[in-house]
Amino acid sequence: MWINGVARDARNDEVIERETPAAKGVVTIAPRGTAEDAEDAIAAAEAQFLSGEWAESYGGDKAKILAGVAACIRRDAEELAYLETLETGKPLKASLGEVEGSADLWEYASGLAPTLHGDSYSNLGPDRMGMILRQPIGVVSIITPWNFPLLIASERIPFALAAGCSTVVKPSEFTSATTLRLGEYLKECGLPDGACNIVSGHGHDIGQVMIEHPSVRMVSFTGSPRVGKIVMHAAAETTKKLSLELGGKSPSVVFADCDMEAAIDGVLKGSNFNAGQCCIAGSRLIVEDKIADQFLEKLIVRAQDLKVGDPFDPQTAIGAIVNEAQFDQIDRYVSAARDSGASILMGGEGDTSNGLFYQPTIIANAPSDSPIAQEEIFGPVLSVFRFKTIQEAIKLANSTNFGLAAYIWTNDLNTALSCGRRIEGGRVWVNAALQGIPEMPLGGYRGSGIGRETGRFGVDEYCEMKSLQINHMPQAERWVTTG
Ligand code: NAD
Repeated sequence: MWINGVARDARNDEVIERETPAAKGVVTIAPRGTAEDAEDAIAAAEAQFLSGEWAESYGGDKAKILAGVAACIRRDAEELAYLETLETGKPLKASLGEVEGSADLWEYASGLAPTLHGDSYSNLGPDRMGMILRQPIGVVSIITPWNFPLLIASERIPFALAAGCSTVVKPSEFTSATTLRLGEYLKECGLPDGACNIVSGHGHDIGQVMIEHPSVRMVSFTGSPRVGKIVMHAAAETTKKLSLELGGKSPSVVFADCDMEAAIDGVLKGSNFNAGQCCIAGSRLIVEDKIADQFLEKLIVRAQDLKVGDPFDPQTAIGAIVNEAQFDQIDRYVSAARDSGASILMGGEGDTSNGLFYQPTIIANAPSDSPIAQEEIFGPVLSVFRFKTIQEAIKLANSTNFGLAAYIWTNDLNTALSCGRRIEGGRVWVNAALQGIPEMPLGGYRGSGIGRETGRFGVDEYCEMKSLQINHMPQAERWVTTG
């Protein structure tokens, strides 16, 4: 772990052994941090923040360090991708893409560091002017999930650092390796000690301290809606700022006028990328009735070509499910849908003979208020619904408690814009699936979360805004008049 610029083990020397879900055997060993380790990390972050060494440093100097990390990530890309695949079970080519995207994020955030500025007013009268200062919020706890470990850490850490914050980061206990590597890179690139502390371990061991500690000013949590609510309750005690990136049940809305081949490809990518363990997975297909039969027929043929299995095989499209609990959750949702009379159009089976794998699954005729239609499954499972009018499509798209992303497939500009404006989601794509770029912010409506990450707004999340008003000439008028 990285605490105050020093690599160290947990105080009690305990470790977490990670078994790869794509075969059998331990692939990484990480320290199992304790609450005391988290307290050490918070103390180091606070001392660094109060010293002003990082918080008040020149933006251009911050930029050089953050860009340096991007270069380290690119230098070690293959090794990082390998680690990511061993721990998550995702295809190696997807890990390479994730590593590349992570380097892009560090580079982009480095460019934001020198551009951070406030505002000023010199039109407030002859004796008064105002400055609006944008200042780092302070110590930020960043808690991340297992599905895109390096990418999600890179959507948060460099933006918080660009703002001048000090950070305490906790990766998922299943996937600590690549986040811990970031600690090495930050040290190598000259980040002042204590500005980024990384504590590996379980949420139930160290999460509470990271959220409740009075020196922590903000919590950036990415994970499940269930834990997100726990974080909200815990943060209320000390009235902390929260940024929550939670789950989704994102729709792919397919209109009859779309480019059907492109839409089929996009719908399959949306529902099966990362074995569906993706917060923005397009897990609901909402397809126009007049093409629905033809679309489904073609979709199933193409889905049957998706190779499930060994993540190191370049032909593999769908790798492993991250752990047994996740595997069982997928199977439970599919079995419940089957039992309730929904039609399993394909898949619906897992294979645990050597690793945890699940077939791409397509389910139709489930009621739109059933769990398979409403809840996040986090597996390669697509539920199908039909619509006749655009109003019906928008209503269906907005019919869950989530609002993280949406995919619209149409060649009609009016349809694209009408849906793009009315479907509630932090990210809406037209004729594209899962193309994240650093410039575009991400986040959720409703149950999908609070706040935005990445893009130029991603730095704002980690800032406070202060009005500094100055009267610069002797004041003639007094509020208290004497005699
Ligand atoms: P999770 O909520 O189980 O865990 C997320 C993180 O929280 C982990 O680091 C975990 O150790 C920690 N944690 C667990 N209990 C905690 C507690 N009591 N206090 C503090 N921290 C605690 O989520 P997961 O299973 O790792 O990830 C899957 C979930 O993440 C899905 O619901 C997915 O939609 C969501 N997700 C959202 C986004 C997004 O940007 N919206 C991105 C990726 C994943």
